[in-house]
Amino acid sequence: MMKLKIRRQEGKKSWYEVFEVEERPGMTVLEALFHVQEKLDGSLTFRYSCRGAVCGSCGMLINRVPRLACRTQVSELRKEPTNEGNPEVLIANRKTEENNDEILIEPLPDLEVIRDLVVDMEVFYSLLDNVRPWLEVKEDVPEKENIIDHEMQLMIEQYTNCILCAICHGSCPVAARDKKYYGPAALAKAWRFDLDPREDEKHREQRRDIVDSVSGVWGCDTVYRCVAVCPKKVAPTQGINELRKRIELTEK
Ligand code: SF4
Repeated sequence: MMKLKIRRQEGKKSWYEVFEVEERPGMTVLEALFHVQEKLDGSLTFRYSCRGAVCGSCGMLINRVPRLACRTQVSELRKEPTNEGNPEVLIANRKTEENNDEILIEPLPDLEVIRDLVVDMEVFYSLLDNVRPWLEVKEDVPEKENIIDHEMQLMIEQYTNCILCAICHGSCPVAARDKKYYGPAALAKAWRFDLDPREDEKHREQRRDIVDSVSGVWGCDTVYRCVAVCPKKVAPTQGINELRKRIELTEK
């Protein structure tokens, strides 16, 4: 048996509740939550959809690290070391006295809790809107396909893999202290569209002006936590660094 210690919230009232769940081989945290909801407490509320790390709905804090519940295996958590003396675990705040038989599950930080593990994503989406995350194509588009070369495709692809799960947002120390900071996901999107050769220059410049600010690329602490936690290997900090270089080059 293992224990899930879950932060519950209803309105302004919040509390922690411990549930015992029988562990099965290959069990994910999401499956353990289903077990609680189906067998122990039907009122437990959490968000999910695809169950396969595609929709980005089940982001939550698991043992104090933001992750997707559908992608996190219970057995892996048991083996996970504490952060003390372990530089590999970039953001784990797991304390040495914490019990590996008990999994701590809390909602993503820095977003308002609607109920239990469900957070309001509105703030995250509106931060994203700030960077105008869409393509405005040049006027002289070819009559047939508007193809970009393969090498560029691969560069862009890493950033299009973002599933908007807000896990990077939940790991970011700047987003935690500055509510106006656009955040790693928005800035990764800005880089994705900045890279795209099909983008209209005027739109590209407008976006660069927007991210050329302390709410944008200059606000980043470059501590790479977003890179460490991103379940899709998007690497927002690298995108932020590249945008900084491009902005500096255009200003020269
Ligand atoms: Fe999630 Fe990664 Fe996109 Fe951030 S950059 S929203 S962690 S997929």
